[in-house]
Amino acid sequence: AKEQGKNNYQFYSAEMNIRVFERLALETSLHRAIRQREFLLHYQPRVDLRTGRISGVEALVRWNHPEIGLVSPAKFIPLAEETGLIVPLGEWVLRTACAQNRIWQERGLPPLRIAVNLSSRQFRQENLIQMVAGVLTETHLAAQWLELELTESLVMQEGERSVAILTELKEMGIDIAIDDFGTGYSSLSYLKRFPVRNLKIDQSFIRDMTRDPDDATLVRTIITMAHGLGMKVIAEGVELEEQLDFLRRHQCEEIQGYYFSQPLDAEKFEQLLRSGK
Ligand code: C2E
Ligand code: CA
Ligand code: CA
Ligand code: CA
Repeated sequence: AKEQGKNNYQFYSAEMNIRVFERLALETSLHRAIRQREFLLHYQPRVDLRTGRISGVEALVRWNHPEIGLVSPAKFIPLAEETGLIVPLGEWVLRTACAQNRIWQERGLPPLRIAVNLSSRQFRQENLIQMVAGVLTETHLAAQWLELELTESLVMQEGERSVAILTELKEMGIDIAIDDFGTGYSSLSYLKRFPVRNLKIDQSFIRDMTRDPDDATLVRTIITMAHGLGMKVIAEGVELEEQLDFLRRHQCEEIQGYYFSQPLDAEKFEQLLRSGK
């Protein structure tokens, strides 16, 4: 029996074992995994830096492989993307995350916005808007409690189409966050064209900013310019107190990272919520 998620050793050994898998075998098992419900979600809190309280949550998919245990999404998302399996998988993730959020609300927990990652393949689906609307209806979750995370490079690549789709999502009441910001070399002023409210600074900059003056300048600049555009900033990958202090000093709104909590399974996340944080 495998304990889900907690056991880091298992996670790392799974990552090593997966290298012995042939691509085809992995693809075959991905198909099977969808049928046999081997996927699960973990939930990582976002914390408001002013109140110190949980202000949101990101859903992150995991694959509980029957032989090798938990497999990191970094290993299987790219393959799922290439093969198109990301479309049914991504829809499963969205439905599960929305349903879970609704369950927490029904249990009387403080309502939170749940962030779900959208891949480029999903974003290019003709029926994206209908799919998202359908999931919200089915799960009885109000749109204001859903946020979609799209990477900077995806939004930029899709240009005009992004503007149209993001506008539709916004009109439905769904917030958009730009993920991995800083890695796509796009100018912040270009971002003004997109109806985007939240910016997530990529964790590579957060990791180095207290040691590398260039990264510190970059993070400061991103925060200042984002605020100038009326956007909220979320720093991801915050692990250390000194990073937290830096971000607080520069008026970053929210943080996400191991400093506060790792991604947790639904039950542990609920316990964290109940502990009043
Ligand atoms: P991401 O969207 O940038 O998610 C943040 C990643 O950083 C997560 O890795 C999270 O566990 C990790 N993380 C959080 N805090 C810290 C920290 O303090 N330090 C460090 N070193 N890492 C931290 P995870 O869960 O392995 O996911 C990796 C990537 O896989 C995600 O990056 C996202 O691009 C993709 N992914 C995960 N779930 C989904 C999904 O449901 N759909 C799609 N399309 N992609 C997903
Ligand atoms: Ca994300
Ligand atoms: Ca990210
Ligand atoms: Ca990154």
